[in-house]
Amino acid sequence: MPISLQNPLLPTHYSVWFDPPDEKGDEVLHFVSERRSLKLKGRSFREFHQRVIPLLNGRHSIEEIETATADLFPGDELRAALGVLADQGIVVEASTHTVSSEIAERMAPQLNLFNDLAPDLPLQKSLETATVAVLGLSGAGPALALSLAAAGVGTIRCIDSLNVAPSDVYLAPFTGMPAVGASRAATISELSKRAAPQVQIVAEDRKLESEDDLRAVIEGADIVACCLDASQSNLIYKLNRVCLATGMRWITCSLAGAEIIAGPAMHPGKGPCYLCYRMRTVACAGNPDDAFAYERFLDRRKQDDSSRRENLVFGAGLAANFVGMEIVKELTGLAEPSLVGRILSVRLTDLTVDKHFVLRKPWCPACFNPSETSPDK
Ligand SMILES: [Zn+2]
Repeated sequence: MPISLQNPLLPTHYSVWFDPPDEKGDEVLHFVSERRSLKLKGRSFREFHQRVIPLLNGRHSIEEIETATADLFPGDELRAALGVLADQGIVVEASTHTVSSEIAERMAPQLNLFNDLAPDLPLQKSLETATVAVLGLSGAGPALALSLAAAGVGTIRCIDSLNVAPSDVYLAPFTGMPAVGASRAATISELSKRAAPQVQIVAEDRKLESEDDLRAVIEGADIVACCLDASQSNLIYKLNRVCLATGMRWITCSLAGAEIIAGPAMHPGKGPCYLCYRMRTVACAGNPDDAFAYERFLDRRKQDDSSRRENLVFGAGLAANFVGMEIVKELTGLAEPSLVGRILSVRLTDLTVDKHFVLRKPWCPACFNPSETSPDK
């Protein structure tokens, strides 16, 4: 048995049952989840199921379990059986869990899945020690902030200088109409705290105009999620420059009519930057000249037009959840992030889903480094 097994825990998502003895007297004990299935063949599983399984809740030490079941199992047999389950990643060590039992109960679905996917990786701890800055709390921003809080990200900065508009409540219905007129940053922070009191939520409602302003609100974050409306693209380009200069990872999303676009995620120094992405988008448009003119109009707009755009509440939730999942992958290493240098587009009207590569733009004014020999890598 692994030495680390001090307080064995059988995560709650496993269904456990046993088959009665066959003609040879062998019993089968089943451990089944959506993703895993293990059958053990042996004896005395009826007793193991009745007496040992209920004690595998992470609150009993291995010695306590031994004492409680000494009338049924010699200690070495019990440890051997638990060792088999631990080797299979089904029984895990509870004392490495960093959340209280109250939080563990709330977050059981996520903790159970993390146990299933990567029993040896401290995925939840990676989230608990992370800071995510959510910039823009209209559109997808509110749902993203709340989901990240629910997932147990340690610190979340809710950044927006404007107040809640009625259309914000349409795109993020959990905000509630009584919040109209109140600060977006304060409102979404309060809702996030209600969902996950252990998470540190920072409301930032200062007006952001310069690169220094942006630098100040994202400094020290592990990743930035940009949910600003396209009419604030001037600020998004500034964010691009600040992230390039500071090496900050970031991801963006947009609600574009009946289409949502999640990504690209940007890792400065690797792959395209946001300006590369926008230049590629304009170049691929049906009429690049018109697309460029619109891009210039948006760049000069410098105000939040999210209230007068054509979008659906369903798209806002989808964009938030795709971006949230990518952030969890970025922070935990649970899986390779899927949107670095890529975008995911979902057309809601016919559910067409596409993933597109975004190539770096040679000689990009924002990210091209003259010392590089090949600007296209
Ligand atoms: Zn670039």
